[in-house]
Amino acid sequence: MPTRGQREFFAVRTLGEALAGFRPARRTGTERVPLDDALGRIPAEPALAPHALPGFARATVDGFAVRAADTYGASDGVPSYLELIGEARMGRPPEIELRPGTAVEIATGAPLPPAADAVLMVEHTQSALPELVEVVRPVAPGDGMVRADEDARAGAELAPAGRPLRAQDLGMLAAAGLTEVEVRVCPRVTVVSTGDELVPAATRELETGQVRDSTAPALAALVREAGGEPRHAGIVPDDRDALAANLQAALPESDVLVVSAGSSVGARDETAAAIASLGEPGIWCHGLAFRPGKPTLLADCGGMPVIGLPGNPRSALVVFRVVGMPIVRLVGGCTHPPPEPTVSARLDRNLPSAAGRADVVQARVHDGVATPLFGSSSLLSILTAADGYLVVPEAATGLPADSEVEVILYR
Ligand code: AMP
Ligand code: MG
Repeated sequence: MPTRGQREFFAVRTLGEALAGFRPARRTGTERVPLDDALGRIPAEPALAPHALPGFARATVDGFAVRAADTYGASDGVPSYLELIGEARMGRPPEIELRPGTAVEIATGAPLPPAADAVLMVEHTQSALPELVEVVRPVAPGDGMVRADEDARAGAELAPAGRPLRAQDLGMLAAAGLTEVEVRVCPRVTVVSTGDELVPAATRELETGQVRDSTAPALAALVREAGGEPRHAGIVPDDRDALAANLQAALPESDVLVVSAGSSVGARDETAAAIASLGEPGIWCHGLAFRPGKPTLLADCGGMPVIGLPGNPRSALVVFRVVGMPIVRLVGGCTHPPPEPTVSARLDRNLPSAAGRADVVQARVHDGVATPLFGSSSLLSILTAADGYLVVPEAATGLPADSEVEVILYR
């Protein structure tokens, strides 16, 4: 066992400490991608509007472009009359100049003629004669239209750096003529599965005692959800040197390293030593005050985050979701992750919890009622039955039945 960092070697941290304090320096570089490939990617810098949008004043209703002042006081009893002098054409620069007392027919989306400052809805007019618009309702300046720079001023931020691009962001960039975007390279997250009992998930017939590697494919999905690119380095037997060699080999092509299993009491010193051999400063925490996730290891090896997960698939997935995904996002420059979908619900029973330890509890939610699911952390079926999970904070000694809880939903 290494003597260096002996104190940290036994450091148990809270979930909050891990989320706020574990920040290895590694960040991915940037690349340019076309909009078609940019969904979910993280802009490396703010995308700025090269010009005002929409770029010209546009009608937002079908009706008549007018000077609002010409409609003041108009009512059913005392209509105003405007001379209809033409039509604003869709997709063409305006050709007609509006004079006092006149109106121009206009459809939604067409450019307003110069001097027009509002569009009167066709429903608020009557037409006594073809060349005359009878106005029965006044409009204020700006009604029925958007200004030339109302969607974005020239130079405005269309999409912030660090927030995954969504469908509407891509639409906004397209509207501004930005066909490519500078994004962060997806962090390469290498998962090394450990365990003498593990066999590849594709193994058809199991010998008694063999276990398919179920964690790796599930972790790969969580890596993708966090914007990373998963890689599976395969299954390594329970052997410190083999693990160290595999991790060493994965280093050059990884931005985050994940060791699945081998961090429970018997094997943990071996795993910790293999991880610590990868680089300085090494182990940052050796245990989380968090259930299910106590044996979690976190290390900073030359700036590269290394996460040692508990072996039980359920614990591994919970820890990776709560602690690992934020690390993948950190490395990939995702400073503004999307808010997690949540629902408020009432607990249908008491939920015990030890003080000083956070608990992640799986739950079903139906009609505003949350039912916690209990069972061995080796059971994946608890996770597949759950709609989401709730966190009983460190300070709490449990939650009484009927408490209002916030359930974070699985997508
Ligand atoms: P360990 O942390 O290595 O003691 O593993 C704890 C439990 O999780 C054992 O029952 C392992 O068989 C199981 N386990 C570890 N890794 C995996 C995996 N990748 N897939 C499925 N089960 C696993
Ligand atoms: Mg094991």
